[in-house]
Amino acid sequence: MMMQERKLKEIFWCIGYNIYLRGNMRNAKELLEVLVSKSKDKGLKLTPQRMAIFRILSDSDQHFTVDEVYQRAKVEYPMLSPATVYRNMEQMVTAELLSHLDLGGSAMRYDTNLEKHHHFVCDRCSKVNDIYLDEFHYTIDEDRSSLGHSEINDSTLYLHGICTECK
Ligand SMILES: [Zn+2]
Ligand SMILES: [Zn+2]
Repeated sequence: MMMQERKLKEIFWCIGYNIYLRGNMRNAKELLEVLVSKSKDKGLKLTPQRMAIFRILSDSDQHFTVDEVYQRAKVEYPMLSPATVYRNMEQMVTAELLSHLDLGGSAMRYDTNLEKHHHFVCDRCSKVNDIYLDEFHYTIDEDRSSLGHSEINDSTLYLHGICTECK
């Protein structure tokens, strides 16, 4: 009976969609405001460099690497170094303004979208898009999985394919 129950155990995630940060209502100005107000809450000083990084991050839906942010930021701040950009972005992660997005490539990407979401990765241009799933079901094949009595609390999906621009 126990076995039967465990076999039937279904893992169910319901993924909420908060359009405050993403979706139609999300725009650069709004995200910039969120980053600025969160910085104030967390006691991060709004230095000109940090504001420049904020503007770059909020102006795009991309999941930037440090180097991509640096390449854009140095136009405005030629004195800026990649190390400074890296340090700033790591401080933002610690302050929970950004999160790491580790796709296993050579460079860590950063995500400004802190809402629960998943990612679509284009295998041609490597662009990463946020995707939202209203809900999905997985049934764990317990015979072939070594989960034991593990408790599953979260999941992140990386869907791969070819994006519309590359098709
Ligand atoms: Zn593509
Ligand atoms: Zn994302």
